[in-house]
This record gives sequence, C-alpha cells and structure tokens, in this order.
Amino acid sequence: MRQLLLNVAATDALACVDEHGWRSRCLHCRTAVGLSITGEPWPGTTLEHIVPRAWFGKTSARALTTAFASPDDLRNLALACARCNHGKGRRSDVDGPSNSRAREVVAALLAARAMRWRDPPALISASLAARPAAAQTSPKKRR
Ligand SMILES: [Zn+2]
Repeated sequence: MRQLLLNVAATDALACVDEHGWRSRCLHCRTAVGLSITGEPWPGTTLEHIVPRAWFGKTSARALTTAFASPDDLRNLALACARCNHGKGRRSDVDGPSNSRAREVVAALLAARAMRWRDPPALISASLAARPAAAQTSPKKRR
C-alpha cells in the first residue's frame, strides 16, 4: 500500500516532495493531501481507485476498464481526501457501472488524473517496470 501511494505521488504532477514527504491535492476538491517520506498517508488522505475495483470484470464498465491491466494501475489511482473518496465510493457502489451518469463521473475523473499525470522519475522506475500497463517511460541510456 505504501509503495503504491508513493508511486501515485511520483506520477502526480501536482505532488512535490521534500525531506518531510509528499504534498499534493485531492483529485476532487484540491484539499491538501500528503504522505510521509515512507508513504504513510496523512490522516484524512486516502488512495482512491477512480474506476472502482468492483467495476472490473463488468461488461457495462468495459470501456472504462479496458485500458488497465488491473484496478491498481497507477492511471486508475489518485490521492483523495477521505471525505471525497468515501462520498464518491458510496455513490458508485449504489449506482454501479450500468448507470450512465456514474460512468460519466468516473470518465471525467480519469481525465482529471490524466491531466495531472507525469512520468515517474528514474528512482522508482524499477518498481514500475514490473507493472506493464504503467511502464510507459522510455528507458534511460546507461553510460
Ligand atoms: Zn477532496
């Protein structure tokens, strides 16, 4: 979980790191969220699955899930405040992917995440290399 959170921060263009850890903004409301340098989330900071895990494998959600090897694909993950994450989670759980409005909301959130995407720095590229769907960075030349 901590490594996943750190990888999300590293691929979030709004996240910046210093000796105290990572600071970013909630995907929904832009409230400050963050992680310690070891990936421990601040109180109230959560890992959000933009396309809910329960939607994977459902035919009605295929257009949203097809790009991802798994729900834990970094492009499907974002830092969110607990208030937004749990609010959205409840709604998605209630509506499900057969609800066109729920699909629209999720698609817009995926687009918001894509707008904030940045390729991860070399430091964590080794751990990303084991994740084919996320390993889009060009290999660095060795001297
Ligand atoms: Zn929020």
